[in-house]
Amino acid sequence: MKAQIAVLAGDGVGKEIVPEAVKLLQAAAEKFGHTLTFVPALVGGSAIDAVGVPLPDETLALAKSSDAVLLGAVGGPKWEGLDYKIRPERALLGLREQLGLFANLRPAKLYPMLSDASTLKREVIEGIDLLVVRELTGGIYFGKPKGIEKTQEGERGINTEVYTTQEIQRIAKVAFEAARKRRRKVTSVDKANVLESSELWRRVVIEVQRGYPDVELSHMYVDNCAMQLIRNPKQFDVLVTSNLFGDILSDEAAMLTGSIGMLPSASIGVKAGMYEPIHGSAPDIAGKNVANPIATIASAAMLLSYQLRLDREAEAIEQAIRKTLEQGYRTKDIQSPGSRLVGTVEMGDAILNNFR
Ligand code: NAD
Repeated sequence: MKAQIAVLAGDGVGKEIVPEAVKLLQAAAEKFGHTLTFVPALVGGSAIDAVGVPLPDETLALAKSSDAVLLGAVGGPKWEGLDYKIRPERALLGLREQLGLFANLRPAKLYPMLSDASTLKREVIEGIDLLVVRELTGGIYFGKPKGIEKTQEGERGINTEVYTTQEIQRIAKVAFEAARKRRRKVTSVDKANVLESSELWRRVVIEVQRGYPDVELSHMYVDNCAMQLIRNPKQFDVLVTSNLFGDILSDEAAMLTGSIGMLPSASIGVKAGMYEPIHGSAPDIAGKNVANPIATIASAAMLLSYQLRLDREAEAIEQAIRKTLEQGYRTKDIQSPGSRLVGTVEMGDAILNNFR
């Protein structure tokens, strides 16, 4: 396997955690006989400082011509006063749009040794391992008409939830394919009792499932799902849902595990996908070698599995993460009494040693 990976470390802790993930990808390539080429480029505030825009043309061209993008995080107080159009965060929207990233995948897995980090009771969260598949480029965030208009009485705010058959089909396929790598259960989340767009959503998901007879499909209303995620999250394997519902449910699901520094994500598109931790640039801890690199290393594992179809290699990285945690290594955010407190680089090295 030969692949080119665009490495966009970005700002703040992005600059510290991305090199740790690259170490693991490099080691995976060596161990399993692949050629991975890493090409760094500027994004976010660092790009604004260097060339005046958050997503330079060269960075976009690189992302488009690569097989995958590994991203750290963008943003920070330094750029907060800038016009919205050239804020660091615009780079993310630009990349999503230009790469056609229509599916966002967020796994929420609890490592047993970290069960005390969650705000929920141990017996509720122990053993959770679920994946939220969120539609990312359609629905109410993009549907037209939209806007605020004057009326005789005052004003009227409008947004429109729109989904086409084709948009639902492609996200449903991502969910069923992902379920095949897991426990083969998909829960489609909608509001089909009230919304016509959800009625179509449900009908199309049922049709797509016919091509995946080995995957079990069930349906759940979004209000019930929000409740079930807290009541009994272990019942879920893959959840697939619209942009708006997914925005809310994926944050809820992520927080079940209690530690933002542990959670990876993948955005999948027509070509190159983008793989990044769910957290931001953490300016409060940047440059101190205390950030947890595990979310980014786990994002690199998702890149191997979802983009390059290297499941064995991805599993080997995940095993190395588990082993390192079992050995008691902890960064500050997940520290507990009796653990071995280490910095970003030392955590990366410990995972690397276990991987090798
Ligand atoms: P944040 O996720 O950066 O930080 C929230 C809290 O979590 C902070 O206390 C931080 O120290 C901690 N944290 C985050 N990542 C950690 C890690 N790897 N290890 C240990 N602790 C970690 O969110 P924020 O503070 O709201 O945002 C900071 C900046 O990041 C803002 O400019 C925001 O716009 C940007 N942001 C970027 C992305 C992205 O690039 N995808 C996502 C969210 C926020």
